Amino acid sequence: MQAVILNGGFGKRLGLSSKPKPMVKLSGKTLLEYSIDNLKLSGIKDLIFLNGFMSEKIESYYGDGKKFGVNISHHAESKPMGTAGAFLEIADKLQDNFVVIYGDLLFNFDFNRLINFSKLNSGIGSIVTHPNNHPFDSDLISFDENFKIQKIFNKPHKKNFLARNDVNSAIYFLKKEIINFIPKNSQSDWIKDIFPNLLGSLYAYPSSEFIFDVGTRKRINIARKYISSKKYTLGSYHNKRRAIFIDRDGVINEEVNGVYNYNQLKIPLFSHKAIKKINNSEYLAICVTNQPGIAKGFFSIDDLNMIHAKLDTELGANGAYLDDLFFCPHHPESGWDGEKIELKKKCNCRKPMPGMFIEASNKHNLDLKNSYFISDTAKDLSVSKKIDINIALVETGYGSLQDMNTNTKYLKAKNLYEAVKKILKNSND
Ligand SMILES: [Zn+2]
Repeated sequence: MQAVILNGGFGKRLGLSSKPKPMVKLSGKTLLEYSIDNLKLSGIKDLIFLNGFMSEKIESYYGDGKKFGVNISHHAESKPMGTAGAFLEIADKLQDNFVVIYGDLLFNFDFNRLINFSKLNSGIGSIVTHPNNHPFDSDLISFDENFKIQKIFNKPHKKNFLARNDVNSAIYFLKKEIINFIPKNSQSDWIKDIFPNLLGSLYAYPSSEFIFDVGTRKRINIARKYISSKKYTLGSYHNKRRAIFIDRDGVINEEVNGVYNYNQLKIPLFSHKAIKKINNSEYLAICVTNQPGIAKGFFSIDDLNMIHAKLDTELGANGAYLDDLFFCPHHPESGWDGEKIELKKKCNCRKPMPGMFIEASNKHNLDLKNSYFISDTAKDLSVSKKIDINIALVETGYGSLQDMNTNTKYLKAKNLYEAVKKILKNSND
């Protein structure tokens, strides 16, 4: 597999007049050396560097790549052609499939999983998406349950725009035939100009792995701190990671006896703070919620998607995000007008059954034994009888009314923020 790394035009954005961005050093190594080392872990050693700003400096530092254990071929843009346009000049060097990576990223990513996903679908390419802490000024990707992309919302976004936090991460898997869709003789950008015309054949690949855009001086300093953190070093699917699972109603948002439209979703300030705190730790933040109102016909999956768009948008406005969200739409008993017969069943996902936890564990390669589940009901927390996971009860929602089995070991906290604080303190001891 081949990787094309876009090093064009980035240095100026950083205000580094003497250095192109890929040459920026983070604890002894350049940003691009981290990229090269991570690509090697997935067996990717054929690299094309598309260089723009100060291309001669990049070329003389990285050379043919031998001293880094890879093969690098350099191409200097003859004029700025944009992130897609530049590919016309290297078309004859491209293999049938390749990955594209922007040179201003710090990542710890399993490329093999992306490549396998992309080869199994019929698309012309896959865009890696991930949640970040500033979705309001990011390009957002909307996709269906089969990961087929339906719409790309380029920044800037309108006020009151609601969307799931699925941000373009600037890592792509592409098939060479996509070159035929790049206009000759004009600048073009993948996400603005090319991808929106190919929606029917593009897929989203949502990832919870570590991908951080080192776009500004401030973000370089944050990246320097990440380098030595478990959030980065254990950041890919190659590693077992820990998660904090969070119940939704009564824990993240106020309990109102069923949220059936997004206007009913009220998120207290402590929830934003709590989830932001998880985001800054090595834990993933994963929401698991029973939504039997879908089976009962009280509201639709589309309504639920809008509620989760509001949830993501509000968290994002406060610099917080969920790494994933699972919901169970089922309910075991019948007797409601307008109920959905096909969802009326005993399933393995309705808490306290462990289905959503197991699915999350397989998807994100989790260490469940060292993960936590925070809920406001003793019933949901009894999932810990079926899977080995630590549990915490909060007093919000129905929490103050719960009778916990005295033999059960659990953590007790006033609210989500207190619970997260205690968990993080425990895991640092
Ligand atoms: Zn279910």
